[in-house]
Amino acid sequence: EVDWFSLASILFLLMFAPLIVYYFIMSCDQYQCSLITPLVDLLLGNTHLSDIWNKTPALTYKAAGIYILWVTFQVILYVFIPDFCHKFLPGYVGGIQEGAVTPAGVVNKYEINGLQAWIITHVLWFANACYFHCFSPTIIFDNWIPLLWCANILGYVVSTFAMLKGYFFPTNAKDCKFTGNFFYDYMMGIEFNPRIGKWFDFKLFFNGRPGIVAWTLINLSYAAKQQKLYGQVTNSMILVNVLQGIYVLDFFWNEAWYLKTIDICHDHFGWYLGWGDCVWLPYLYTLQGLYLVYHPVQLGTANAVGILILGLVGYYIFRVTNHQKDLFRRTNGNCKIWGRKPEYIECSYTSVDGTKYYSKLMTSGFWGWARHFNYTGDLMGSLAYCLTCGFAHILPYFYIVYMAILLTHRCIRDEHRCFSKYGKDWKRYTTKVPYRLIPGMF
Ligand code: NDP
Repeated sequence: EVDWFSLASILFLLMFAPLIVYYFIMSCDQYQCSLITPLVDLLLGNTHLSDIWNKTPALTYKAAGIYILWVTFQVILYVFIPDFCHKFLPGYVGGIQEGAVTPAGVVNKYEINGLQAWIITHVLWFANACYFHCFSPTIIFDNWIPLLWCANILGYVVSTFAMLKGYFFPTNAKDCKFTGNFFYDYMMGIEFNPRIGKWFDFKLFFNGRPGIVAWTLINLSYAAKQQKLYGQVTNSMILVNVLQGIYVLDFFWNEAWYLKTIDICHDHFGWYLGWGDCVWLPYLYTLQGLYLVYHPVQLGTANAVGILILGLVGYYIFRVTNHQKDLFRRTNGNCKIWGRKPEYIECSYTSVDGTKYYSKLMTSGFWGWARHFNYTGDLMGSLAYCLTCGFAHILPYFYIVYMAILLTHRCIRDEHRCFSKYGKDWKRYTTKVPYRLIPGMF
């Protein structure tokens, strides 16, 4: 059953999320990234919605061509080029990997080749920028709004297709979820792991590419634009490129681990993931770089070093916390966390068919400090990206506000699920580890 709050949130997001993205990008294009000035202008009658709309670049054949080429190229890299990175990179887990057991008991196989797709794409990008000069490295920035229309078209097409597919030809009918509410089903998805053929997995493709591979290219394009406009790339732009680059590379290096995260293990594929990955992620996660094109900030050395340290410490916490849980679960607790045997709470749960399973919740390492310390690290890194932009405008701070809401909501959603799953064992765990994100506070 869909409660009224979920339904209201879904309707709000369906109506306003595309407008929010448009508003942010438009405010940079027309108002130097000021979020307040367009509103004030509209309220005072200095401008009209039609004026803003008329100044907005339209969809162009050029942008459509770039976008179709981009997505096709990523599909080819994903489907047709088996992973070779795991053959020579020590410690990297790629190639064919198994996902978690779905509620219907299916174990999907995935071709993990995201790192390879990222490397090939970036090698080609640099080869073009340095030698071939087939297109300008500022191409993404120069076509940013026309590309927004293309991304929206793909986002809506893929979400609508996923919904129809769920009704008419699901990949695994037993893993479909129908609530009977059209908006909820469209937003949160019907199918758990929609696929075309054996290997084209919608969730992994849209989550992992084309948005995340593009993330670092978009930042590079912003850096190239700064160079073109001002004759230099500021240290803040370098920091954004480096810190977000580490985050993106980490995602691809750990793509096999990603198969065990909430996105892949629990979420169904609907507009939330389909449109979100095509539009929300590439447009709003890259706002700092876009802002720095309009407002090049040169940070003092102390500030730059402080931000770098915050970003790196945040990344360290994020990575180590995720690694500790992964190691603990993979070895069933037969490992060492910070040099000692991990402590944990034994717990059990019963699946829909009545089978009893056993699991363990670790209370050592960062998992003994707080129940979601990985989110805390993620939030520290997110804050570091925003701080590179200084304090002249609020637009770059959207990311930390959004991540704080996303991860707090995720934390509550996950704990609700864990409580339904583990019952009194989860209670024992929360008594032992009482804080969610910040030890001693929350
Ligand atoms: P987690 O990796 O925290 O996984 C939560 C699950 O882990 C729970 O459902 C439970 O699953 C298990 N678990 C919880 N507590 C313990 C414990 N003490 N010991 C062992 N297992 C435990 O969550 P996510 O999948 O959401 O996040 C993965 C990473 O991705 C995070 O670092 C997050 O910051 C990042 N992220 C980034 C986003 C972005 O947009 N940048 C968006 C979302 C996530 P089980 O049922 O198996 O017990």
